[in-house]
This record gives sequence, structure tokens and C-alpha cells, in this order.
Amino acid sequence: MVSAAASSSLLSYEEAAAVVDAYMSGLTGNPLHSERVSLANAWGRVLAQDLRADREQPPFTRSTRDGYACRAREASAHGFLARAGASRAGDAPAGPLAAGAAWEIMTGAPVPEGADCVVMVEHVETVDGKVRLLPPRNIQPGDNLVPLGAQARAGDKILARGSTIDAQQIALAATCGYPELEVYKRPRVAILATGDELVPVEAKPTGGQIRNSNAPMLAAMVTAAGGEPVVLARAADHAEALDAALALARDADLLLISGGVSAGKFDLVEPALARLGASFHFTGVKIQPGKPLVFGELPAEKGNAKRCAQLPFFGLPGNPVSSAVTFLLFGAPVVAALGGSTSSCPRFALARLKVASDKHGKPGLTRFLPAHCTFDAEPEVELVPWQGSGDLAALARSNCFLVVPSDAHRLEAGAVVRILLAS
Ligand code: AMP
Ligand code: MG
Repeated sequence: MVSAAASSSLLSYEEAAAVVDAYMSGLTGNPLHSERVSLANAWGRVLAQDLRADREQPPFTRSTRDGYACRAREASAHGFLARAGASRAGDAPAGPLAAGAAWEIMTGAPVPEGADCVVMVEHVETVDGKVRLLPPRNIQPGDNLVPLGAQARAGDKILARGSTIDAQQIALAATCGYPELEVYKRPRVAILATGDELVPVEAKPTGGQIRNSNAPMLAAMVTAAGGEPVVLARAADHAEALDAALALARDADLLLISGGVSAGKFDLVEPALARLGASFHFTGVKIQPGKPLVFGELPAEKGNAKRCAQLPFFGLPGNPVSSAVTFLLFGAPVVAALGGSTSSCPRFALARLKVASDKHGKPGLTRFLPAHCTFDAEPEVELVPWQGSGDLAALARSNCFLVVPSDAHRLEAGAVVRILLAS
């Protein structure tokens, strides 16, 4: 850790990411609190329990087609087989199937004992209650059925704690008989926007005022990362206002402060944090936008039974694109980790660059430029024209950020490039 004063050397993006990773690894010993939620309310939450199969999956050998269950060897001889009966989904398993017989079966029905395949109804000829596989088709044992227990055995772990619950996981939990799930409590993330110029969204700005767009943006990003946002009233740019606002944030699990961390005369956030005894992991990263980013911890308050005794904080530069990028890169992973998630975050992907890009400003900074990626046949990414890191209209047209490595001078059209996914 460094003190605010001794922080002149900036970390590279990779070094700063490693610092945040190391911080998150240190969290693993701390207890996480959980709660029970109904399956209907479990979307987006993080599992605090392993899910186990309550019975074999599938619980019976299941037909995957409408057709006839039979023996593959007999069907492939193309002689007529006697239709011995019929099963639809929901019927109890039938059988045993007599030699030389076929059993009419619907998708999802149990395959009768003795049958080893299902011929599709489209591939047979039926005459007088008898059925045969039309030549020249053949069929193999195992075709068009899923054997009992092939997906999971009773008691198998089918989903690990730490998994984020999406629609697929809800379906799995439902099929295994979980009407409720134990999930981790969402970390409470205090959001404090600072700046004399800021007015609430409902207000009509006058003179040099602007609306506070970072607080609602960050609240949405915190929710998406699995946290519970707690938006505080904006703080003015003077010491007393910041002290009072910071005092209100102390019982959060994470504190996000927007604005006031650059080198300007009214950038008073670091001194305010230092007055509370903050230790700073870093105070600046060689990235653009977002260079003034600050990461540190405030000491524990007495009688506070939170997951982390210390309160981690990020001081995000106030320009909206800087706030968005630095939260995605560094804040979101911490929110996810505080919420017990084991999913990888931030999320990067590869895409093909549509148009060459060469206006990369100062070398030595890793850049994250607003871009738009289409995910049709192959991901294709294009920079969004922008007027710098205050350009909210450009930000709203983007769905990712093009990663320009610190040593890149030009990225050629058609090159495969990295993008940081915005959601
Ligand atoms: P700062 O990081 O405080 O120097 O602010 C940098 C720029 O971001 C300034 O133009 C601010 O007006 C703007 N800004 C700061 N906070 C916010 C906010 N909460 N919403 C929108 N813009 C902001
Ligand atoms: Mg400011």
C-alpha cells in the first residue's frame, strides 16, 4: 500500500488489475451471508449452495423422437415388426418388449425395457399394425434416446456454489426439485457523486451546472455486477461536505466515489479519505480514460459485522466514460467477488476491427475506447466517434470498449482485437 503523498508512480493496467485480483483473493477467507429466495426471484443471484440431482437425469430412458422403440438389429434387417403398444410422455415405463416387436412412442416418453433405439416416425412404413424401417436406412443401438442417468446420477453435484443464476440454471434447479435456493446476500455498494456543478436529474441546470448522470449509471452497473446500490446525496467540493458524506457510507460493503480525484484545485476526495485513515492500494493507472483512478480501504468502524472489516473504496474519475470504464475494469470484479461470484469479470472478447484506427494519443497508456460490436456471424467492432470522456451520447451508442494496447500505434482494418464487454 502507498500513502496518498507517495503515489506519484502510476501502475500499468496489468499491475493495477493484479492489485485488485490480490485484494479479491484475500477476501476468500471472510464469511459471506446468505438468504433463501424463491426460484422465481433467483435470477441474477449467486448460488450459496451446491445444487445436487435429486434423482437420475433423465429419470428413465427417454425417447427424443416420435417413432417406434425397437431393437436396432431387428429394425436394420427391414422386416416388419409387430406394434406391441404405445407410450406417451407421462406414461410409466412399459416392457419388456417381445422379440420382433416395436413400441409406438412419443418424444419424452419412457423407452420400454428391451428396446435399444427409437426409429423416427418419418423413417418407417406402417402396414396393418406392423411397422418397418424403410431401407436403405439403418439404425444403431442408442439412437434417438437418452439412457437413464446419462446426464446426472442421483446426488451428483450439478452446479457449484458461486455460480450466477441465469435462466438455464433456474431450469436445472426446477427439474431437480428446488422451489427455493440459498443465495449470497448482495453486497451493499454506496455511490457518492461529488461536484459543486451537479444537480439531480429532476432539476433544471442553470449556468455551469450539469445533471448528475454518474450516480444512476453506476447504480445500474452495480446492479448488473450483482450488488445492491445505495445512492447517497451528492457532495459538494469542500472538506466538510465530503467528511459528512463519507461518514454516511461507512456501513456499506464497497464505496464508489465519483469525481474529485484528479489533480485540480477542487479535487478533495483523496485528502478526505486520508483524514479517515485510508490506505491507498494505488492512486492512478496508466489507462485512458480513467487515469486518476484510486483504490484503497478505510479502516474498520467499531461494532461493524460486515464481510470485510475494512471498507474498500474506488475513487472514480468523474467524466462519465472514465467512470464507466474504471468501474467495469476494477469495480465490477470487486462487487462480484464481494457477492461470492466465481464468474470471470471483467469480460473480454475478440472481434475483427472494421475500420483501421490510429488516433491513439499518448503512448504508454492502455486505452479503452467506446466501440460498437455486432455479434452476427463473427463479432465485428467499430469505434464510435466521440468527443472525449465526457461524451455521454457516444457512450450510449457503444456496447463495448476497444482495447488499444499501450504500445500500439495503429490497429489495421481486419485485425483481430480485444474488446471489453460493457454488459
Ligand atoms: P472530476 O473528476 O470531478 O474532475 O470531473 C470531471 C468531469 O466529469 C467534469 O466535467 C465534471 O463536471 C464531470 N462529472 C463529475 N461528476 C459527474 C457526475 N456525477 N455526472 C456527470 N458528470 C460528472
Ligand atoms: Mg469534480
